[in-house]
Amino acid sequence: MAFIITGSCIGTMDGACVDVCPVDCIYSKPGDTHLFINPDECIDCAACEPVCPVDAIFPDDEVPDNESQFIEEAQKYDYDSSEPGLNT
Ligand code: SF4
Repeated sequence: MAFIITGSCIGTMDGACVDVCPVDCIYSKPGDTHLFINPDECIDCAACEPVCPVDAIFPDDEVPDNESQFIEEAQKYDYDSSEPGLNT
């Protein structure tokens, strides 16, 4: 399992999640419209979920149906071309 950042992050990208993630697995690169959690690195600690000011973060099995595309986006995102943190 991993946590997923959903659509509410678009236009917000607050970065509070980045500050609390103990394994630096929340990524972005210039031009991104939202942050991405690397599902291969996330340790499911849940620290990011309550600090998001727009409630954009869910465990992957609790993502609302109308946000399910963000699960696939997180799986396909090119983490090698990105860096941990808020890099916009
Ligand atoms: Fe990072 Fe924990 Fe959130 Fe996963 S659940 S992205 S490890 S803070």
